[in-house]
Amino acid sequence: MKDSFGRHVHSMRISVTDRCNMRCDYCVSGDKLQLRPSRELLSLEEIETIVRAAGTLGFDTFRFTGGEPLVRQGVPELIEKIGRQPGVRRLSLSTNGSLLAPYVDRLADAGVKALNISLDSLLPDRFRKITRGGDLACVLSGVNAALGHDRFTVKLNAVIVRGINDDELGELASLTIHQPLTMRFIEYMPHGSWRASAQADNPTVSTDEMLDALSQRFEIERNVSGPVGEGPARYVQIKGAVGYIGLISPVFQPFCERCNRIRLTSDGYIKSCLLQDDRFALRDWMRSPAYTFDELVKRIRDAVLLKPREHSYARNIDMSTVGG
Ligand code: SAM
Repeated sequence: MKDSFGRHVHSMRISVTDRCNMRCDYCVSGDKLQLRPSRELLSLEEIETIVRAAGTLGFDTFRFTGGEPLVRQGVPELIEKIGRQPGVRRLSLSTNGSLLAPYVDRLADAGVKALNISLDSLLPDRFRKITRGGDLACVLSGVNAALGHDRFTVKLNAVIVRGINDDELGELASLTIHQPLTMRFIEYMPHGSWRASAQADNPTVSTDEMLDALSQRFEIERNVSGPVGEGPARYVQIKGAVGYIGLISPVFQPFCERCNRIRLTSDGYIKSCLLQDDRFALRDWMRSPAYTFDELVKRIRDAVLLKPREHSYARNIDMSTVGG
C-alpha cells in the first residue's frame, strides 16, 4: 500500500524474539539484554496472523530478525508457514550466523531467499570482544554453509565503529573478491549507553569516509547495480571482484524517501519508522475480546499511514527488541 507520502510500503521486518546468544556492544545498551518475560513476546501464531493481515494490504516481503531469530524454537516452521501464505514474494533472515549451519537446508526449503549475517570482525579476539562472547569460527561456518547453497543471496553486515573495527574495512571488503557475497558496511547509530568516551571520539564513520578508505586500497567501481533486493544500501565493487560492497548510511545519508518497510517488535508493537519513538500496540489488544482480524488490518494500515516523511533521532531505541 502507499503511505501518505506516496511510498510503496510492502516490507515488514519482524523481530521474532528479544533473546540473543550474543551481546554486541553497538546493539545492546548496558551489559545485559533487557529481556521481557516470554508471555510479553508475541506467540508464533500471533506473528503469523499479523503477517496474514499485512498480506491483505499488499505486504509481500518479510524479514525475520531478533534478537537472534534462530534461538527461538519453531522459527523455521513459522517461516515455512508464512512462505505458504498467498502473495508472499520474498522471505529473508537476519542472523548472527552462529546457529545457522544446521538450518540452511530447512531455510532454503522454507523459501528463504536472502540471508544477512552479522560479521563485524575477522579477528577472533576482537570478534569475541565486540559480541561479548561470540565465537568467530561458528559464525564463519554459518557463512560457509550459506554460501554452499546456491539458493541464497548472502550479505554480511558489519557495523563500523571508529577505533573498534574501522581498521578492518579492507580485510572485510576483500571477502568479496573471490566469493559471491555482498559485504555491507553500516554506519553506527549511536544510542543507549554507548560509552561516553567513545561518543566523544565521534564513533560513527560515514560511508563516504569508508569509501575513501577503500579507494586507497582497491580500485573501486562506483554506482554498480548490486545484488537483487530492495534494501537501503548503495553498491560499489572492487574492480574484477565476484561480489559487491554495500554502504548503508542511516546517519549521514538517510534513505527515508526510499523506505518501504515497517517493523514488528518482538513484544508486539508496530513501528512505522526505526528511529521514531511512536509505536502501535497490538499484543494486549489481540489477546482481548475486542480483537477482530478486520480491525487488525485497519491498525496496520493506520500505522503505515502515520509513517513519518523522515526519521527524527529516537534515543531510547532498543535494537534487540526492534530487530535493527
Ligand atoms: N541477531 C541478528 C543479527 O546479528 O543480524 C539480528 C538482529 S540485529 C539487531 C540486526 C541488525 O541490526 C544487524 O545487522 C546489526 O548490524 C544492526 N544494528 C544493531 N545495532 C546497530 C547500531 N547501533 N547501528 C547500526 N546498526 C545496528
